[in-house]
Amino acid sequence: MNHPERNIRNHKIPLRLILVVPFVLQILIIVGLTGWFSLRNGQKAINELASLWREEIDSRVKQELTNHLNTAKLVTQINVDMMRLGGLDPKNHKRSTDYLLTQFQQFPTLSGITIGTEQPNYVGLARSSEGTLVLTLWNQDLGGVIDYNLDESGEITSISKIDTDYDHRKRDWYSSAIKLGQPLWQEPYLTINPPRLVISFDRPFLDSRGQGQGVSDAELSLSNISDFLRNLQIGQTGKVYILENNGNLVASSTSQEPFQISSSSDEPIRLQASQSSDVSIRKTTNYLFKIFENLSDIQAPQQLDFKLKSERQFVQVTPFQESGLDWLVVIAVPESEFLGAIEQNTRTTIALCSFAAIVASVTGILISRWLVKPIHAIAESADMLSSGNLQQRIAEPRAKELATLAKAFNQMAGQIQTSLQSLEYNALHDPLTGLFNRTALQSKLQMAIDRSIQAAGEREVSSLFAVLILDLDEFKLVNDSFGHLYGDRLLVEVAQRLRSCFSDKQLGNVLTSQVARFGGDEFVILLDDVSDVDLIRQATRQILELFDRPFDLNGMEIFFGASIGIVFSSDEDRPEHYLRDADIALYCAKRDGKGKFEIFNPGMRSNTIERLHLGNELRRALSKGELSIFYQPIIDITSSRMSAFEALMRWHNPIHGKVSPAEFIPIAEETGLIVELGWWVLRQACLQMRSWQQKYSACLSMSMCVNLSSKQFSQIDFLDRVKQILRETEIDPDNLKLEITESIYMHSAVATEIKLRELKRLGVKLSVDDFGTGYSSLSYLYRFPIDTLKIDRSFIHNLGVSDDSSIIVESILLLGEKLGLDVVAEGVETMEEVRWLQDRGCKNAQGFLFSRPLPAQELDLLLSETVSIDNL
Ligand code: C2E
Ligand code: CA
Ligand code: CA
Repeated sequence: MNHPERNIRNHKIPLRLILVVPFVLQILIIVGLTGWFSLRNGQKAINELASLWREEIDSRVKQELTNHLNTAKLVTQINVDMMRLGGLDPKNHKRSTDYLLTQFQQFPTLSGITIGTEQPNYVGLARSSEGTLVLTLWNQDLGGVIDYNLDESGEITSISKIDTDYDHRKRDWYSSAIKLGQPLWQEPYLTINPPRLVISFDRPFLDSRGQGQGVSDAELSLSNISDFLRNLQIGQTGKVYILENNGNLVASSTSQEPFQISSSSDEPIRLQASQSSDVSIRKTTNYLFKIFENLSDIQAPQQLDFKLKSERQFVQVTPFQESGLDWLVVIAVPESEFLGAIEQNTRTTIALCSFAAIVASVTGILISRWLVKPIHAIAESADMLSSGNLQQRIAEPRAKELATLAKAFNQMAGQIQTSLQSLEYNALHDPLTGLFNRTALQSKLQMAIDRSIQAAGEREVSSLFAVLILDLDEFKLVNDSFGHLYGDRLLVEVAQRLRSCFSDKQLGNVLTSQVARFGGDEFVILLDDVSDVDLIRQATRQILELFDRPFDLNGMEIFFGASIGIVFSSDEDRPEHYLRDADIALYCAKRDGKGKFEIFNPGMRSNTIERLHLGNELRRALSKGELSIFYQPIIDITSSRMSAFEALMRWHNPIHGKVSPAEFIPIAEETGLIVELGWWVLRQACLQMRSWQQKYSACLSMSMCVNLSSKQFSQIDFLDRVKQILRETEIDPDNLKLEITESIYMHSAVATEIKLRELKRLGVKLSVDDFGTGYSSLSYLYRFPIDTLKIDRSFIHNLGVSDDSSIIVESILLLGEKLGLDVVAEGVETMEEVRWLQDRGCKNAQGFLFSRPLPAQELDLLLSETVSIDNL
């Protein structure tokens, strides 16, 4: 769904991000700074470590070098001492050879031991390339030397070479030592077979006068130093090498020998350090040359560093000088060697920092999630709530503020739910009685209809239902006589009775019912899932029995009737049709007498239509002259003379024939037509009376009684109309008597009183019609200017039948006597009734016994003869 609000929400920064980002940033800054500081300290540490390390290696190299070179020094010293003591004499070849063999075994690092003297004589022992020993001896006869091959035990096996030209005294090593008179190191030199770089130490043997008598020489292979350097292990790639100040390599920790085989002569030649196959040695040497031009300038240890392939190279150069040696020990170590250790530290730090950062971020995310989750939940619940899901509640989070928020939300949701529920309840219930209202019932009815139609479609046993409309008989009268408060109380009581009727065991078990109030005094009952039509009749009777008991109105017991119209389920599908039909049935029930029920049949609908039709016809009846007035005399039974006439409307319709007032008067009341008809009757009756008075003087003391509808009475211009008719018809108001019913008190009591008093003032008389059938308090008899009470004909009719009626009639007569009111007995049909009434002092009577209502002409005839009862 493309909800505009949702879109807006999408553009907003999520709360989680707002919480997490600064948090994580902070952590990253702290961790970054820590890392940077540790890295910087690492650099410093590297420099310090490199320096310490170089010094350490340097001292170890120098130590080893000294140790190694000392062997040569020691051996030459021993041999010189031995010669002086006479333990070693080069003339004695055999003994000298044994001595040297023993010494060779003792000092395995030596590659050669030689003793040469001035006599001359010469003994030398050296190792060959095959590892065998070669003995060189001076041969007096030859004036030169012979090389012998020796076996393992030191026995001569063969002569390997004879050199007659060799005189050691002419050799550099010998002469320089004699000349110097002091021991000295020779320059390193290469031997051819085997090719190796060696160095020899030469110590002169001086006589007592200080004259050189011979030289003791010891030769060392420098490869031993290379071996040592190689074993020194300067990290993974660190190098250490020794070079002469001319740049010639002496020894190195690389596998390469410090010499190379010349491609031209096939002989070994010295190797410059700057030509080493090892990059580190080559570049370091070049760097040294660049810095120091002359390497002999370096007189003290130096620590340097330079960039090699973008990596720092730590260099230490230390001069090594003694007895003719001028060497440099060079250590070159790349920074990475130290970084290894330092980096490990840094890496650990960084790893720890990263771990801390990750932990912090994850914690941050989790916490923000934990915080935001309830907010999310609230938002979602609010969404759901707004879309109608009222059950939405959220668990209270542990954070205090969020818990408060959740609590507030839950309270709000609860309140919304209750208010919506009460709204819903109010929308579907009648506030006065608590029963369903019209809307609710209509929807229930619709459901019943749908079920019924569906059941019919599936050819199941049809699901029968019935709609009952219950209307209180003449409730309006109660409402208006006692006030709305009482009316309401009565309705509540009726509702209670109805409810209990359907909740009781008898009906509640067999019928599903919904009771509703439709407004006013109309109740609708929907009986659903009815298995048997008889059940409905039975239920209806039971409902009507509810009205057998009196209703208690403020301590006053009142009997009240109700009528019911019933409609059964049919193929109709609109609730309003059912209600209309039930209403028609109700109308029929009422028309046939109150306190009854009727079941709807389509014929009734035509009755109703007929009624409507009749209403329309009645509207035209007046202008068509179909209406007339009959007059029924009222007789003074003490003198048997006519004392008054009652004007009664008649309708003769060309199609319907004579229509009874009992039928058309209610229609006229309902349609309001009664007002117009009423005025017409009053005018006609007055005119008639006037004409009779003009003809018959007896009529001058008689009254013309005209029925007055309460609707007519309540008209605003009522008095004006009456006055106008009195004026126009010129009838003496004394001769007019208006028959009112108690229902006129239904209207504003004050207005009623004013109107009645005004009528009285005019001289018009007032009569209460159908007295004894209403409900109002008798106090109006005092308040209002009443002249006559007309006892309802139902009491007269029952005079011989019911004691109650006799008592009522007697009471009314007594009441009339006490209040000084005339009493007229209506509907007198027998002489017994007349006698009974006469015995109890009733003065006036009206009834078929004396005369039916007659057309004016017929009465005219009667009047013309005599106005005496004897002539009737
Ligand atoms: P109501 O005012 O009580 O009129 C008397 C009714 O009793 C008349 O019925 C009359 O024919 C009938 N009646 C008279 N004597 C006897 C008798 O001995 N036995 C029996 N069974 N009935 C008797 P009607 O003319 O059919 O009128 C019925 C009602 O229609 C009247 O009752 C009155 O309430 C109303 N009505 C008739 N004409 C008018 C009228 O012009 N205006 C108004 N507002 N109502 C009228
Ligand atoms: Ca009447
Ligand atoms: Ca009457």
